[in-house]
Amino acid sequence: MLENEQIRLSQIRKFFMKHSQITILGAGPIGIEAALACLERGWNVTIYERGNVGENLQKWGHVRLFSPFQLNHSPRGARKLRESGRTLPDEEALLLSDEYINEYLKPLSEIPEIAEVLETQTTVRHISRDMQLKGDHIGSEQRADSPFRLLLESEGIEKYVTADFVLDCTGTFGNHNWLGRGGIPCLGERKFADRIRYDLPDLLNKDRQNYSGLATLVVGSGYSAATNIVSLASLRQEAPSTTLYWVTRKTGDAPLTPIPEDALPERKQLTQRANQLASQSSDVNWIGGAVVDSILAEPESNQLKVTLVMTRENTTRTILVDRILANVGFHPERSIYEELQIHECYASHGPMKLAAALMGESSADCLTQASPGASTLINPEPNFFILGSKSYGRSSRFLLKVGLEQVDQIVDLIAKK
Ligand SMILES: Cc1cc2nc3c(=O)[nH]c(=O)nc-3n(C[C@H](O)[C@H](O)[C@H](O)COP(=O)(O)OP(=O)(O)OC[C@H]3O[C@@H](n4cnc5c(N)ncnc54)[C@H](O)[C@@H]3O)c2cc1C
Repeated sequence: MLENEQIRLSQIRKFFMKHSQITILGAGPIGIEAALACLERGWNVTIYERGNVGENLQKWGHVRLFSPFQLNHSPRGARKLRESGRTLPDEEALLLSDEYINEYLKPLSEIPEIAEVLETQTTVRHISRDMQLKGDHIGSEQRADSPFRLLLESEGIEKYVTADFVLDCTGTFGNHNWLGRGGIPCLGERKFADRIRYDLPDLLNKDRQNYSGLATLVVGSGYSAATNIVSLASLRQEAPSTTLYWVTRKTGDAPLTPIPEDALPERKQLTQRANQLASQSSDVNWIGGAVVDSILAEPESNQLKVTLVMTRENTTRTILVDRILANVGFHPERSIYEELQIHECYASHGPMKLAAALMGESSADCLTQASPGASTLINPEPNFFILGSKSYGRSSRFLLKVGLEQVDQIVDLIAKK
């Protein structure tokens, strides 16, 4: 291509982007990063956040991140904060989620460029094309001839906005999976919802009185379950009548599979401590190779009678508990884009190309992964991208460092449009 032609094309692109509207859904770490990256290019950005900045992170604010701060921020974010006169946490610091919000994410959201384009307490309900239905122009760039149409809701008031590009950074936290066998609600799961939590309560402080001296069942064999087990075991030291059951589908020597030569000391310690509690301590009754079949009321003791099915033996076992912590994972909220042409993985519900790339990864350690590139984030729906933890669908292997890389890759891709 002639040099003049290239210059002309680049000018047209710049003009096009200057007049395009980029809409970012969610003000978690990846939504805020995406906004910074787009603003840096001089693009028009709006961010819609259903709660406050870092809303999902706040829900487990008392939990320490495994990854050091250097992996959880971008050079761009650090530069912006320094320019605004803020001091950043130490690169090696392992921050509580609350500290990460207060020392990084919230200050970033308060810099004038971001504050001006951020609308909190605004939920994105649905997205479509303004003048096209889902089945129109299948997989064609022609769909971009009509802008996106978004239905928003803020304090009970609905409104429409349009956008040329949409970056869905709405995460998965909050859309929990079900506890019952096979992933659907077990009998009684919905009825006794007030005694079941799917997240990480602040067991040693704020939520202590709801668990101290009571019997709790923890379900799941990931790091959230391990975190809850370790906290409940500490609670038991102070209130010895606190009883703990830990149910996992996994059998073997221990509930968690340690990562060989784990580079993250906090994660390594948690795995060791939880496994040791399960296999060597009388504080935790670990029941491996089991799934939850039903939850019934036990009127005499006002407890829940939980029936487990032992998968290998095909026998049942019942336990009595007061509370259940179901750490059984999360999944993406897909209804917001059901009128768009999204090619999803039928197993993970993440975008198909990325899911396929992730399936090919062999390492047990999510720390070793890098974002496989912008091409894996492209959908049949032009100019719509799912980024951040939502892009991993049901997989819990997502790390902030990958999401920060995704942002750079997508912004480069958009700039070349
Ligand atoms: C307990 C736990 C520990 C973790 N520890 C680490 C760690 O140590 N290191 C690491 O790298 N990663 C860790 N992760 C994984 C991941 O980094 C975090 O989940 C992170 O919050 C993902 O960022 P995100 O921006 O993709 O999504 P989120 O932080 O979930 O942000 C999504 C935002 O979108 C908003 N939103 C949702 N729906 C809508 C809607 N319809 N309209 C408008 N706004 C909406 C939400 O309110 C939220 O603010 C951890 C995750 C968990 C659950």
